[in-house]
Amino acid sequence: MGYASRLYARKPDDLGGDLLINVSPTPQNRRASAALAQEGDRWRVTLAGYFGDYPPVDDEGFRAFARKLPTPDIHALITNATPLSDPVPYKLPANQHRRYERLAEFPAGLLVLGDAICSFTPIYGQGMSTAAMQAQALQACLAQGQIDLARRFFREAATAIGNPWNLTVGNDQRLSGAALPAPKHLLNWYMDKLQIVARRDPEVALAAEGGQSLCRRASLLHPHIALCVLKGSLWESSSASMQGAALSTQESSS
Ligand SMILES: Cc1cc2nc3c(=O)[nH]c(=O)nc-3n(C[C@H](O)[C@H](O)[C@H](O)COP(=O)(O)OP(=O)(O)OC[C@H]3O[C@@H](n4cnc5c(N)ncnc54)[C@H](O)[C@@H]3O)c2cc1C
Repeated sequence: MGYASRLYARKPDDLGGDLLINVSPTPQNRRASAALAQEGDRWRVTLAGYFGDYPPVDDEGFRAFARKLPTPDIHALITNATPLSDPVPYKLPANQHRRYERLAEFPAGLLVLGDAICSFTPIYGQGMSTAAMQAQALQACLAQGQIDLARRFFREAATAIGNPWNLTVGNDQRLSGAALPAPKHLLNWYMDKLQIVARRDPEVALAAEGGQSLCRRASLLHPHIALCVLKGSLWESSSASMQGAALSTQESSS
């Protein structure tokens, strides 16, 4: 994965006053992007791609890359906004999870935490929260004393990492065209539907952001949200087939 971020001046009516646009990569369109309102009336705009399709860091190339995103909003935003910095590139060769919890022994007096255990594609925005959850796990383990600390901590850290790892790596794996086991397929299917419904259901959009950034971990799979996603995707497919029927009626009458 390669990405580049650039700061722009933000006007209050940009994007109709919205604070965030998040375009996730899919197998059909592996370019991703996020425009995030920041302090000091600024936008941080990130463009990302996979397998060598990386955003250029010159002005024209950066905009041309944004033009091929599946939604026009971010391209329109950066075409009209004043840049405050150059694009800054970053590349991640691979997601990495070192399974310390599987070691039979670990040196006493040492521990590993945060990115040193697990580092993700940053576009999913989960690294800091995952590191913080590991710090909480360490606090709880230390409260029970130091005996067998490494083994207890690595087991808890692996639990904290499990969900964000499955979400991010599950999506990245299908971008590569890899064959996935059934549970990951199901999770990816659900996440696709959730993102589609989130485009017009604010409650689902908030749950998607809260869940993906791990601020509200349970929100993604909460039964109420799952029901909204199922109802919303049924509505999407029935309105798509009605539009298809209307189009073919127009075609046959013309
Ligand atoms: C470009 C980019 C964008 C990201 N965006 C997001 C995001 O939007 N949301 C999110 O949640 N996460 C994001 N992440 C991930 C997040 O930054 C990391 O997951 C998080 O910082 C990990 O915390 P850490 O303490 O494990 O490691 P770090 O924050 O990397 O801290 C390690 C520290 O150790 C120091 N250090 C290294 N070697 C030595 C040494 N030998 N001696 C002394 N000190 C040393 C380093 O200087 C550094 O200060 C992003 C990461 C990158 C690279």
